[in-house]
Order: sequence, then C-alpha cells, then structure tokens
Amino acid sequence: MKVEVKELKPNKAVIKIEDTKPYFVNALRRIMLSELPKLAIDDVIIYDNTSALFDEIVSHRLGLVPIPTDLSLLAFRDQCVCKGKGCPNCTVRYTLSKEGEGTVFSGDLQPAEKSWAITEDKIPIVELYGEQRLILEVEAILGRGRDHAKWQSIQAPSYRMLTTIEFDKKRANDVKAFVEKLPKDLVEIKGEKILLKDIKKLPIFESYIDKENIDFISIRRDPTKVLFSFETDGSFSAKDAILESAKILENKYSEMGKLLKNLK
Ligand SMILES: [Zn+2]
Repeated sequence: MKVEVKELKPNKAVIKIEDTKPYFVNALRRIMLSELPKLAIDDVIIYDNTSALFDEIVSHRLGLVPIPTDLSLLAFRDQCVCKGKGCPNCTVRYTLSKEGEGTVFSGDLQPAEKSWAITEDKIPIVELYGEQRLILEVEAILGRGRDHAKWQSIQAPSYRMLTTIEFDKKRANDVKAFVEKLPKDLVEIKGEKILLKDIKKLPIFESYIDKENIDFISIRRDPTKVLFSFETDGSFSAKDAILESAKILENKYSEMGKLLKNLK
C-alpha cells in the first residue's frame, strides 16, 4: 500500500491511498465516525438560567462544543480507577458564569485546568439581555460516535476512486466540441485522455455526458486507488485523528486475527 498526503491542514486532510481496496478505506472511514473517542460535555448542572433558552436547549448546545482531546491523558469513565465516580483521569470540568447584555460563547467555559481550555471559543451558546444570567457547571467525558453524535469528531469522511476518462480517437473532433461547451473549470483534454480538474466534480461531468447521450467518452474507476478526505470539528488535529483511527483499526484486525487462530 502507498500513502501520499495531498493536503494537510489543522482541521482537514486529503490522502491518496494506492494498492488498496475500497472495503479497507471504508473500514477506516467508519472507525473515524464511530470508534474514535473524544471529549464531550455529558453532565450539566445549572445553578441559574434566566436567559431566553430552556435549560435543555442550553445543555444541548453545550454538548456540541468541540473540546480539545488528548487521548494519552484520559480514560473512559466506566474503565477508570475511580470506578465511574468521576476523577481527573476521566473527567474534565468547566464552569460558566455570565450576567448582563451580551453573547455567551463556548470560550466562556472556564476549565479547572488551563490545558483543557476550549480552542473553538467563538461558538455562540445564548444571547443575554438586560439582567439575564447563566451560571452553570459541566463535566466532559470520553465517548464514541456510535453512542451519541456529540462524540463524533470527524465530519464528512469520504473516499473517491481515481478515475480515467478515455475517448474514441476517431471522434476527437466531437470530443473537442463537447468539452468546449462545458464550464471552464471542469475538464481539459491532454493527449488521448480527458483530465478532471477536480475529482469532486466527476458527477457534474457525468451529468453532461448523460444529458447529451455521449457514447464516445468512457469513464473508468480504479478501485485500487482512492482519494480519502475528511475534516475534524477541532477536538483533534487532522493528523492525530487519522493516526489514532489507524491505531484502532490495527488493534481490531489483530484482535480478529487472534480469535481466528483459536478456531478449531
Ligand atoms: Zn475516573
């Protein structure tokens, strides 16, 4: 297998994987969605809420705030030495106290320890007017996307098979006329092939082919070469997210391997 990083930003990555199979890339995609743990607010104690929003709505909004997660420092609460009571190994606590005119932002959540400060600090929670108040305390714990969507840190992980577009050489003039009518940023003709300028725009190109009943252009997808892309909500960097997910997948394969060896 060959892996090439095409784009790597703090919250976004595009990776080209060759000599692979779609089921493998899909397994990685599903691990990212449902198995990669992250912190999310799970308990909210409201001391005072005179804002226009109900306690439940405020709590729901807090649950969706991305919290920077360092998996090397945290344990799942139900597997922790505290036996589920909640301790610094499994629980991160924040307080929030705001009164008077203005917006309450995610960044107003004050962590018990500075290292857990919220980095996505401009997410509005509620607007306060006049003398309105919001005073609360929250607990964030590790969870997985398969338990609740608030524990899903990866957005829109997807893969596309790399594509070759070929045409009937005897119809080169028709191909040229067809391509000239298309939007400028879609494709270009290079030698005996048509190249997509952006692989994500393949469905648009296909829709033009369908619309005009073109029979001299053929599209071939290669299932051994895929472009895998995803974004994170800010709980992890894109790099950490893929490395942690790969680790989880590797463990699952080795667990499966061990179980199969025990078969008689
Ligand atoms: Zn604990």
